[in-house]
Order: sequence, then C-alpha cells, then structure tokens
Amino acid sequence: DLISVRRALLSLSNKEGLKELCAFLTQYGCELVATSSTYKAIKELGFLCVSVDSITQFPEVLGGRVKTLHPKIFGGILCRESLDSDRQDMQTQDIKPFDIVVCNLYPFQNALAKGASPEDLIENIDIGGVSLLRAAAKNHAFVSVLCDVSDYEYFKENVSKNNGQTTISLRKELAVKALRETAAYDEIISSTLEKSLEIENNLLSKIGPIRSENIKSIDSFPENLSLSLVKQQSLRYGENPHQKASFYRIADSNLKEVCTLSHLKCFHGKELSYNNVLDIEHAIKLISEFKENYSAVILKHNTPCGVGVSLHSIAEAYERAFESDPVSPFGGIVCINSEVTLDLAKKLSETFLEVVIAPHFTEDSLALLQKKKNLRLVTFNPELPLANKTIFTHVQGGFLAQSANNIVIDWNKITYPTLIKPTDDILKALTLGMTVVKHVRSNAIVLANQYQSLSVAGGFTNRVDAVEQCLKKVRLPLENAVLASDAFFPFPDSIEMIKESGVKYIIQPGGSVQDYEVIKACDKYGISMVFTGCRHFKH
Ligand code: 5GP
Repeated sequence: DLISVRRALLSLSNKEGLKELCAFLTQYGCELVATSSTYKAIKELGFLCVSVDSITQFPEVLGGRVKTLHPKIFGGILCRESLDSDRQDMQTQDIKPFDIVVCNLYPFQNALAKGASPEDLIENIDIGGVSLLRAAAKNHAFVSVLCDVSDYEYFKENVSKNNGQTTISLRKELAVKALRETAAYDEIISSTLEKSLEIENNLLSKIGPIRSENIKSIDSFPENLSLSLVKQQSLRYGENPHQKASFYRIADSNLKEVCTLSHLKCFHGKELSYNNVLDIEHAIKLISEFKENYSAVILKHNTPCGVGVSLHSIAEAYERAFESDPVSPFGGIVCINSEVTLDLAKKLSETFLEVVIAPHFTEDSLALLQKKKNLRLVTFNPELPLANKTIFTHVQGGFLAQSANNIVIDWNKITYPTLIKPTDDILKALTLGMTVVKHVRSNAIVLANQYQSLSVAGGFTNRVDAVEQCLKKVRLPLENAVLASDAFFPFPDSIEMIKESGVKYIIQPGGSVQDYEVIKACDKYGISMVFTGCRHFKH
C-alpha cells in the first residue's frame, strides 16, 4: 500500500509554497514534470524540471486551452502498474507513471469577484486541471493528488513519517478532497453561467432533472465556522401563543447560504408566524425534489399530508395531493412549483389554509385568493432552496451542523433482491414514495402511486406501528401502490401486514442483518422489493 514519490506532475495557477514542495520532493529523488508557467517557476527556483510538452512532443495549443490533455500524461496518471495489460500498454506507448499530481485550478472565483467579462470568465474555466484532479483521484490506489496549497504541509509530514512514501489512507483522503474541489468548482461555474447566460428559470425546468444531484451532499462542508447571529425580525409568538419568538439570521461571510426569510415574499395576509416559517422551509425543500411540470405539496405541522404531480395542470396536481387525505389540510400550508392559476385558486378557496406558496400567482387567481383576508400568500424562487448545503439544529448552548440531505435516488445503484422486478410505471411510484418519505419524521412509511402520495405516517418509535398506521389511513384504492420506508425493516413482521393489504411493491434502503428474512418473506408473498442503499432518517 506504500507508494514511493518517484515522479510528480505539477500544474499550478497558484504557485505559493512551490519552493518548499519542490525541495521536499527532490530530496527523495522525485522527478518534477510541469506545465509551461509552472515549469518556468520551478526552473527559476533552481530545481531540475521536465516540461509537459517535451514528454508529449506536442506544444501547448489554443492559448493554453490544451496543455496536459494527452495520452502520455493521462496514461501516466491512470495506469495501474499492478496490471499486466496496463504495463504492456505503458511499455509499447512509452508511458511513464506519475505518483503525484499537484494541481490547482484556474481561479474562476477570483475572476468572478473581480468582475471579469463573460469572455474572460469562459477562459477561466479550467478543463485539463479538472481532468488531472479527477484522474489522479480515481487512481488513488497509486497516485496522490494535491489540489490545495494548504494541504502541502500535511502531505509532507505524512510522507516524511513514511520515509518518502505515501500511504493508501493518505491517498484516499486526498482523492476525496480533490473530487469535492472539482464538484464545488463546477457548481460555481454552472450557477454563474446560469445567471450570466440569462437562461430563464422556466426554460431550465423543461430540461430533465440533474441526475448527479447527490454531488451536492458531498459539497464542501464548512468545518470551521465562527457564527454570529443577527436579529432580523420579531415574530408574533413562538410555537404557542405564550411563547415569544424572533428570527435570527446567521451572519457569516463564509457561509454562502440562502436565508429563508430573506428570499420569501409574504405579500398578503397576516405576518408569517414561527410555525409558518418552519412549515414553509420544509414545504419548499420537499417541492424542490419534484421535477414534474406540475407538483403540489400540502403540509401540516412540518409533515407532508399530501403530495401530487401532474403533466397537465397544477390544479390536477393539487387535487391529487388533497384527495389522498382531505381531512389533514385544514389549517395547513400548500406549496406548488408553478404558477397559481384561477382553476387552482378555486380549489384552494374551498379549504381553510394558512399559507399558499408559489413562484407566481396569476392576476385572476389573486383576485379570488385575496378575498381571504388572513390567508398568507407567499412567493419564492424555486431555484434557491437547493443552494443550502448546511443544516443547523439548535440545542442548548449551541448548534448541530450537518450537510443537507440532497441525495436523490440513483437508479444505477438500486438493487433488486426479490424474484419479481418492478415495471417502469412502478419505478415512478417508488421514486415518488421514497422522495416523500425522506421528508417525514422517522420512523416513517409512505404509500404512493405514480401520481400522488396515498398515505403518510411518521414519528413512530417502531416500524410496525408506522406500517400499520399508514395502511389504516388509506382512503384511495391501493392499485399499483408502493410502500416506501425511510430505513430498513429490522424484522419480516411488517411484510406480513403489507401482504394483507395487497400492496405488491416496497422500496427501502436495505442493510439490516435480517434482510435475508425480509427478502424471503417478500418472495413468499409475491412482493417485489428494491433496495436503495441510502437511509433517510429525519429527526
Ligand atoms: P501553467 O500556469 O503551469 O501554464 O498552467 C497551470 C494551470 O493550467 C493549472 O491551473 C491547471 O489546472 C491548468 N491546466 C492544466 N492542463 C490544462 C489543460 O489541458 N487545459 C486547460 N484549460 N487548463 C489546464
């Protein structure tokens, strides 16, 4: 698992710490290879160095757009010297392995901060550097990747301790850091271009969902924040009328988060209450998961009580959300992902609601809804809530912080442990069910079809009760219904109950020591079950 530092590739926009790093590497006899200006800097510091183009026998072209993109470079980073076939290729193509890649990217963010023109910004998008980092991270079994000047010291200490060799655990750590770096880098570029290219939100919504959204959840987690709080506004009262309350904004320039109360606009009805703010926050997070043209969620006490989607109209989506449980929405809040139309407004008017949140309201819908004096009407920007990457929960004297639970189902990682596999239509229902259950307090169970939630049960201290309650609450037919669970079934007992109800599909994370028993029970009853491999506890 130990790899000597024999050959390093350096390609650096930020050349801080270069002298010390080169001195360190060369003392172990490490050969230095570098791109043009890095090569020049190393030579000027008095070290021996080989230029990339002398290896590729190809000059840097297109004003630096193509520097390292060459099989002799990438072959050297990606090769596995332990594989006969790789060694054969290296020999015939004269590829020499790299053990270290040191690369920091074109400073896109600095260019942005300096107000660079759109053309300059484009030139500041690093191509080869990102590929170098990704290639080295992928091949961490053999290669160390350094993407940040501030990690040089740690790297040097580690290598010194191991007599000029890198350990597998060091290389793994560095690989994760590099992948986070490239993910964060692309995140900044995509959101900047989205704004500067003036793509309308409603245009983007027609493009399919981003399949790699789970990247967001591993995005840079702020390790060392010193938070200060600034009072933004007083609230009428807290969870109950006898409790005082206010809203504090986190003032920390390192925490580039969207502040809930700053981006919401409550333009009609009473001021937002403490409970409204909490419910709205959850409603927006939930609705943001739905990429269907029209989606509606209804929440009560922080819990979804109905979710509906439609390809045709927002009124249909709401109706689907409502009909699964027409009792709970009384005094609830409704959040949708498209414009409130007159049709929808008519349906909303039939129920006593606290808040309606939407990106827009049509004029005729407003004329109708504004007749209700107390109904709070709120607009939000559907793109913003997903930007938040850290969640804080207050405990006495402090905050717990965690990265946001932004993982979406990755169908490539799903496993099908039972004999019967679900059909495509059922996959939609499984996705909908799993998406909703992620937003319900644990232990949570949700029944759903491809258009709507059918029953939601959460906050149970055991899974059998959650299943029982969820099945008991169902009002609509259970045809083609699926059951989603936020965490694994520890015993097959719930499966017996599910079989009685006639539900034929289950989606759950899997991972229990009793999985085998649960699978056996499903097979016995002809139930099809899929494992997502991803738990969604919510406390
Ligand atoms: P240098 O200043 O040494 O000429 O170039 C260093 C920078 O180029 C680094 O920031 C590195 O990420 C970037 N880089 C390396 N290879 C390529 C490439 O093939 N294309 C582009 N656009 N940038 C590269």
